Amino acid sequence: MKAYRILTISGDGIGPEVTAGGKAVLEAVARKYTLDFQFEEALLGHVAIEATGNPLPDETLEKAQNSDAILFGAIGHPKYDNDPSLKVRPEQGLLKIRKELGLYTNIRPIKLFDELIGASSLKPEILKGSDILFFRELTGGVYFGQPRERSADGETAFDTMIYSKSEVRRIAHKAFQAAQKRRKILHSVDKANVLASSRLWRETVTEVAQDYPDVKVRHTFVDAASMMLIKNPKQFDVVLTGNLFGDILTDEASQIAGSMGMLASASVGDKTGIYEPIHGSAPDIAGKNLANPLASILSVALMLEIAFDLKEPANQVIKAVEKTLKAGWRTTDIADKSTESDKILGTKEMGTLVAEML
Ligand code: NAD
Repeated sequence: MKAYRILTISGDGIGPEVTAGGKAVLEAVARKYTLDFQFEEALLGHVAIEATGNPLPDETLEKAQNSDAILFGAIGHPKYDNDPSLKVRPEQGLLKIRKELGLYTNIRPIKLFDELIGASSLKPEILKGSDILFFRELTGGVYFGQPRERSADGETAFDTMIYSKSEVRRIAHKAFQAAQKRRKILHSVDKANVLASSRLWRETVTEVAQDYPDVKVRHTFVDAASMMLIKNPKQFDVVLTGNLFGDILTDEASQIAGSMGMLASASVGDKTGIYEPIHGSAPDIAGKNLANPLASILSVALMLEIAFDLKEPANQVIKAVEKTLKAGWRTTDIADKSTESDKILGTKEMGTLVAEML
């Protein structure tokens, strides 16, 4: 029997709580389909700094390189958010592992489960039928550009927003190929009226588009895109954008799906991929059994499909989530305040229930 080596990196804050749900579902999949999933664990982020002084210990990177897929939770701790002078920071670990594994494409599906229409602050008629696939560039742009410095007198600081044509080209091809299998509309989001890197982005996407004449391309400025996303989300099919804009727009788009706790993602590239919720470590609810584990569970579905080509088990995971929601079970973030019929569960219980539904 083929063995699948899965590394779990649960990280900080709610990371371990939600990743436990994802792992419970993977174990249920293994039982249902008689699959051999072999699990290992590793440290990243604040917990890794506490244990080793390094946000990405060598041992974690080595385990990551030797695994077939990685289930990641979240990193981050208020200690660093409130003290910008700290030189060693949890997010350095996450950025480094993405770079080392060559994970330049972050795929973020924004799909609203019908049962959650009441959980969003947007009007049902605006939301219904929304189905967007984001392609966020993950290893370039202003998050990685050098130099990035604070001046000697501490009065100024700068970052470098840089893209090369090859970086834009490789993710653009992936986004166009996905659009061909969907509604064949691709919004490329940039800020080409102001930024030189965005003008290069737009020019390169236009060149790549020649290879996909069946896909309609709409170049959109990021400020307009942020407005259009909540005004009329149904106009979007595939959205292709850079690292910073994708980070911001997908947090906004999480409200289309009802909560940050619903959005899964796949970070893929040349080697082992990382499957991860889009949310952070949520220190405000960490350790309280309040976090929604469905983003981690839906990341498991992406792992099964993309990393292992196990389409049927992946669909069954999504169906199990759907069934759980249909039966009225909710974590607090997706509860419909206007109805009494929702049944509220904690993080752990939600994970167990979805695993049982499978
Ligand atoms: P966040 O995503 O952690 O939380 C934003 C809001 O969404 C909070 O109110 C939180 O309670 C809520 N939320 C997030 N996930 C939820 C879930 N699964 N269920 C229910 N509610 C959920 O963003 P933040 O507060 O801006 O950042 C907190 C920390 O996380 C920071 O240290 C930041 O650097 C880090 N961060 C990490 C990642 C990552 O690991 N990929 C991503 C973003 C932020």
